Amino acid sequence: MLENIKWLGHASFKVTGEKIIYIDPWNLKKKEKADIILITHPHYDHLSSKDISKIQVDETIIIIPEKDKGELKGRVKRIKPGDSLSIDRVTIKAVPAYNINKTYHPKEKGWVGYIIETGGFSIYHAGDTDFIPEMKKIKVDIALLPVGGTYTMDAEEAAKACRILNPKIAIPMHYGDVVGSEEDAKKFKEMSPVKVEILKKEE
Ligand code: ZN
Ligand code: ZN
Repeated sequence: MLENIKWLGHASFKVTGEKIIYIDPWNLKKKEKADIILITHPHYDHLSSKDISKIQVDETIIIIPEKDKGELKGRVKRIKPGDSLSIDRVTIKAVPAYNINKTYHPKEKGWVGYIIETGGFSIYHAGDTDFIPEMKKIKVDIALLPVGGTYTMDAEEAAKACRILNPKIAIPMHYGDVVGSEEDAKKFKEMSPVKVEILKKEE
């Protein structure tokens, strides 16, 4: 299950298995054709047309919050928090992602995190979020959580979120680029009540 997840730096991940899924592709070095691209919100470090164009082909399905279709072309599906959809054997659910003690990600924008079910396991990419009450309803095997602070949860808040989410494995993200450092990831690992894997950034 862990071998199917590649961290591409910051909030950018590739999930392989039944489909090739990219989440918030950004600063991509290697290009691989994507079956599905998930965009959490339109900030430049999450919605990058330049990076999408590197991996998009005619068949690629792009999923993006309802109000943020932007300039994207091709097979674009718009979702809002609470929506879910299936693409062959992959299930994707959009969940809320927002700030509660900062202003960068207002709840009204309808920006999201994603729960992906593929290959018999579930992965939660939290998006740019604080520790929010909706997390109480999320049950997953793997949680990808922001730890960099400033725009999202910091390491301590992410550790608190783990207590509620209780995933089998938590993986820190949203650090090491733009905001946050490896120290934040290490602090998160020390404080988390669940197993934490700090992934090596892949090219
Ligand atoms: Zn953001
Ligand atoms: Zn961000």
